[in-house]
Amino acid sequence: MQESETREFQAEAKQLLRLMVHSIYSDKDVFLRELLSNASDALDKLRLESLVDKDLDVDTTDLHIQLERDPAARTLTVRDNGIGMSREDVVGLIGTIARSGTAELLEKLKSAKEAQEAKQTQGSELIGQFGVGFYSAFMVADKVTVVTRKAGESTGTRWESEGESTYTVADVPDAPQGTAVTLHLKPVDTDDGMHDYTDTGVLRRIVTRYSDFLAWPIRMEVERVKPAEDEDGESTTVRETETLNSMKALWARPRSEVTDAEYHEFYKHISHDWADPLETIRLQAEGTFEYQALLFLPSRAPFDLFTRDAKRGVQLYVKRVFIMDDCEELMPEYLRFVKGVVDAQDLSLNVSREILQQDRQIRAMQRRLAKKVLSTVSGLLNSDEQADRDKYRTFWSQFGTCVKEGLVTDPDNRSDILAIASFDSTHSAEQQTTLAEYVERMPDDQEHIYYLTGRSREMVEKSPHMEAFTSKGVEVLILTDQIDEMWVESGAEFQGKTFRSIAKGEVDLDSGDDAADESVKEEFAGLLEWLRGALSDHVKDVRLSSRLTTSPACIVGDEGDMSPELVRIYKQMGQ
Ligand code: ADP
Ligand code: MG
Repeated sequence: MQESETREFQAEAKQLLRLMVHSIYSDKDVFLRELLSNASDALDKLRLESLVDKDLDVDTTDLHIQLERDPAARTLTVRDNGIGMSREDVVGLIGTIARSGTAELLEKLKSAKEAQEAKQTQGSELIGQFGVGFYSAFMVADKVTVVTRKAGESTGTRWESEGESTYTVADVPDAPQGTAVTLHLKPVDTDDGMHDYTDTGVLRRIVTRYSDFLAWPIRMEVERVKPAEDEDGESTTVRETETLNSMKALWARPRSEVTDAEYHEFYKHISHDWADPLETIRLQAEGTFEYQALLFLPSRAPFDLFTRDAKRGVQLYVKRVFIMDDCEELMPEYLRFVKGVVDAQDLSLNVSREILQQDRQIRAMQRRLAKKVLSTVSGLLNSDEQADRDKYRTFWSQFGTCVKEGLVTDPDNRSDILAIASFDSTHSAEQQTTLAEYVERMPDDQEHIYYLTGRSREMVEKSPHMEAFTSKGVEVLILTDQIDEMWVESGAEFQGKTFRSIAKGEVDLDSGDDAADESVKEEFAGLLEWLRGALSDHVKDVRLSSRLTTSPACIVGDEGDMSPELVRIYKQMGQ
């Protein structure tokens, strides 16, 4: 048996703790949401584990969360009989922050502070991207004690910290299975948002506000004064257990019965985001394969949107039972930022990733969900309401680069994606354009949608290829995302117009006066012949061009050649 020991928090954990102790977030009530959310996750995990592992000897008949208050001692305990944690779990999960991107986030927090911009809201927005979870307990407590025992293990663990640089861990022989987090509360200071978290009214209010939809009962013992039964009798005080939450699965309730606030809290629970979602999407699929989906578009991109091992996908439930997080099979990769829940009626509770990957129904679900997301975005873009169009702009600025991956990976939806895409263009320096707007502005005789790729808007604008187009006032799309190189090469079309790079082939803007052209060609024939010979190791051909106005010459690719940017990207990828 291991002794009690004192250990140091990992450096990054220390930094986060400090932010919590000095309360970067003004709404302290959310600590309870975080602890309840963890307890609920632990109950989900135990339920699932007991389904998968028939030998696991645990009682799952009364899974619940209990709030225990002690106003005299000023403590509040959040207890669950869920999966629990082993000693290594506790040290690994609570003493350190293992998640990728933490260092990056803290760096951002620090620089925001240094730039004197660290207003409370900014810090909390950054924190929100990260979901600080358990540590938020230190916003309201000056000491936190965790007693936990993992399902299937005999010894429990006590973890304790005052939120400074160290914590202690010790074995506990007789810990009940599950986890109890006890907060030694700071003094009440309502001006500072520090309410009395041993007060039943306060607790009831917070649970209803933040955690009503949790699927497990949140119980609390309350005292009720029972009036006397007859005139001379005395009133008595009885203790009863009250369930504080309604436990209604939001996705199974009619839309008209659910408020936006409820949807938003639910989003925060599943996404670990502290900000409201941009848009809520509901889908009811009836028929042979029935399922309900409740999806959310976040209001900003997570910092790890383009990290390889980032979590993605939505939660999968089967008949209201939580099955898995991050179910990648339900959402194409280019919509990996979509959060939410899909509850299927006809899958087995034992469904595994392997089964999901091969299941035809699941593929059909993915297609349907992707279409629903794309049509929702299209609805925002084409809405009569300015507020919706603003949402579209936010959406595209946050997720457009990611969505454009679908132009390459999801040919079936290519035209739908092109229809909701916006691009930089020479038409306006401030606002992006949709392709529909571009085509609308095209003169009747223009056949193609012109574009030029490059690493930045500035570079593209300065390109010699641009000269003739600028001087003739022909609009050119400015494509600066790496992914643009890929889809634009893949034969995409919009409303029957093909995309044409102005850096390739013969882009002829002059339609008239062929005779003049001929005489000019004759005049320069000798020079061109000489240049072809002199440059034969480097270029395929030398041509006269009407595309330049001030630069004497420029290099163009053949139709179908890789652009220099694409060559660069492939080189970067090691190919
Ligand atoms: P997150 O919930 O986003 O993972 P938290 O900081 O809230 O981050 O929690 C860290 C981890 O600690 C959880 O992922 C979980 O593994 C573990 N944990 C926290 N609370 C509990 C609990 N009540 N029961 C079991 N494990 C828990
Ligand atoms: Mg959590």
